[in-house]
Amino acid sequence: MPRKIVYGEDAAKDFEYPENSLVITTTTPDIYNKWLDYMGVKNYEVYDKITPDPAIETVEAVKKSFEGKNISTFIGLGGGSSMDVCKYLGKLTGIPKILIPTTFGTGAEMTTYAVISFEHKKKLLQDEAFLADASIVDPYFLPGTPFNIMRNSACDAAAQASEGYDSKLGNPLTRLFCKEAFDILEDAIVNDKPNLLPYGAMLSGIGFGNSSTTLGHALSYVFSNEGVPHGYSLSSCTTVAHRFNKSIYYERFKRICQKLKFEPLKLKQPLDQAADVIMPDRGHLDNNPIPVNKEDIIKCLEDIVYMNPLEQVVEEPR
Ligand SMILES: [Zn+2]
Repeated sequence: MPRKIVYGEDAAKDFEYPENSLVITTTTPDIYNKWLDYMGVKNYEVYDKITPDPAIETVEAVKKSFEGKNISTFIGLGGGSSMDVCKYLGKLTGIPKILIPTTFGTGAEMTTYAVISFEHKKKLLQDEAFLADASIVDPYFLPGTPFNIMRNSACDAAAQASEGYDSKLGNPLTRLFCKEAFDILEDAIVNDKPNLLPYGAMLSGIGFGNSSTTLGHALSYVFSNEGVPHGYSLSSCTTVAHRFNKSIYYERFKRICQKLKFEPLKLKQPLDQAADVIMPDRGHLDNNPIPVNKEDIIKCLEDIVYMNPLEQVVEEPR
């Protein structure tokens, strides 16, 4: 876990930020200027050209633009992409990093994971050097988040908590965090309490970040490689994976996705070819509670693409 975690209302406002920091964000000046005002950051530089699913070239571009400028700290302010770039930069340069999520889903502010694209393929990387020096979780950033981003993030957090619970790398402590995270996220989504999302996502990050995600995430990357947002692709992928694994979270996760009204997924490439992309993803598949072979993967993909796994089961009247 990060050495310093600050959570709650005004957490980002009360934090003392070092001067000469570089703020890395995905948003536009009208939004982040308001945020930085609230936070009271002084004498900072901004890099705001981060795009979703950042590539290693982006990381290198940021590093190059600010070389020799005596940057004291990186501040990752935004969704998973801003934080991932920040994490990789921190590893490359040894400069400390403060991570502040504004969309609440990836839990990236808590984990040693970073997702960076190499040659247009997303790669999940893990390194202790990716861990934040300080993480700040403040619900202040929640209002105004577009519904689509909110629901994708919420779905990611719930998928991570439940896959993390089932992971072979889990232990009683990680399962404690995953279980608590899922309970909170479910309450937030099903009962329309968005203010609970930041805390749920944060606990999910601690839980799955110290175990792993599993089959649902492994299946999802072939969809995100074709442009489907990460959280969206998990709606069907994690549902089908939970059914395959006989997870205790199968029904509850599906209910969350139904509530968020996700559409079924499509895949352009042939399923056999997609299965060949998924199979080498040992980081996810080896930690799945049940062994998975290529036929299983193809069957899961068929269920995702041809059957709508989120379809409400309606009982026929007799
Ligand atoms: Zn995820």
